[in-house]
Amino acid sequence: MTSELAGRAVLTWRVAELVDAWPETASARALVLEVPDWPGHRAGQHVDLRLTGPDGYTTERSYSLASPAERSQAGRRLQLVVQRVGDGEVSPYLTDVFDAGNLIEVRGPIGGWFVWSPREGGGAPVLLVAGGSGIVPLMSMIRERRFRHDRTPFRLVYSLRAQADELFADELNRPRTGDGGVETVVLRTREDSPRRPAGRITAADLAAWGWPADFAPRCFVCGPTGFVEEVARLLLALGHSPDNIKTERFGPSGS
Ligand SMILES: Cc1cc2nc3c(=O)[nH]c(=O)nc-3n(C[C@H](O)[C@H](O)[C@H](O)COP(=O)(O)OP(=O)(O)OC[C@H]3O[C@@H](n4cnc5c(N)ncnc54)[C@H](O)[C@@H]3O)c2cc1C
Repeated sequence: MTSELAGRAVLTWRVAELVDAWPETASARALVLEVPDWPGHRAGQHVDLRLTGPDGYTTERSYSLASPAERSQAGRRLQLVVQRVGDGEVSPYLTDVFDAGNLIEVRGPIGGWFVWSPREGGGAPVLLVAGGSGIVPLMSMIRERRFRHDRTPFRLVYSLRAQADELFADELNRPRTGDGGVETVVLRTREDSPRRPAGRITAADLAAWGWPADFAPRCFVCGPTGFVEEVARLLLALGHSPDNIKTERFGPSGS
């Protein structure tokens, strides 16, 4: 596809159908959308969803893709995970009301910076740092690595409020053989975790569970804006190059 055609494909709104959904936690729901003519995506990208009310009012929000890129073209099925924001306009609809067979408009894939593939990085190790639902695009990277049988060393530091909030818990905690696995540590802000007492992520956590700056790891940081800014600051203070730190902020989105 030429870049002009690819650009047009991204801007196109497609009508997608919800074909599967399940609760990931009490307040987060996985959605599987079947999207006709999906142009394919890269691990780390996101889509925009557009809802239109009976009176013609429309609103849009961004959601990251949890599906690996490898599967996206053949399958046309995209997985998202939506965390309910209590007083939100769109997320409670997607977690509580949107039902199998319902249609929604999808535009994407979007974002060319916060992406990973085995081709990029020249084998440099990868550090993934997630805050809350910021794990979603990082899961796409973990799945992409697995489906490609890639051996790039991956470490994941996942900060969340409590164990009950952990997304992809089964998949992250299932022991794997053959690919070296992903070294994962889960830190909790509101309760003790097996590795350390309750608390926000610190430089000591990133030094203990990440890679030394000398290894020049590619760092991907995703989560709420405050979390992302703090982790980026800590990584810089630990000596990581700004060129190796990519961030995605899950602040309010849409129009
Ligand atoms: C690139 C990108 C990717 C994203 N990917 C995901 C994803 O994979 N999963 C996911 O659940 N969300 C994701 N988000 C956030 C999502 O786009 C919405 O912002 C979120 O679902 C809230 O929408 P809402 O309509 O329910 O809330 P709104 O009606 O927009 O906001 C209601 C209130 O909540 C606050 N608020 C809005 N968004 C958030 C938030 N993310 N966290 C805390 N408070 C918020 C607002 O300031 C406001 O006070 C992503 C955002 C971006 C920019």
